Amino acid sequence: MAHRDKRGVEYIHRVDNGLCGSCGKPLDRNGAICEACRLKRKEANVARVARLKEAGLCPICGKRPMYEGLSCALCRDKKQRVESARKERRAA
Ligand SMILES: [Zn+2]
Ligand SMILES: [Zn+2]
Repeated sequence: MAHRDKRGVEYIHRVDNGLCGSCGKPLDRNGAICEACRLKRKEANVARVARLKEAGLCPICGKRPMYEGLSCALCRDKKQRVESARKERRAA
């Protein structure tokens, strides 16, 4: 826990100073992390999803088995609830 807290403070300190919260280099884009780190994270996420898909696991939670091709039944329900809530808000 202490380790995570320390990293959190460093992250906030970097972002406050216009630096990338991940690598500490000056930011070259709007946001908390630089373009290189953003791409790295995106790639890591794509690789993670591919790995989970191969294992037949839900790419959202990474724990439960896939259901109907996109995610597990639980994550699918959650997504549907979020989407229907969004639609209701838009209609109101
Ligand atoms: Zn960076
Ligand atoms: Zn899931």
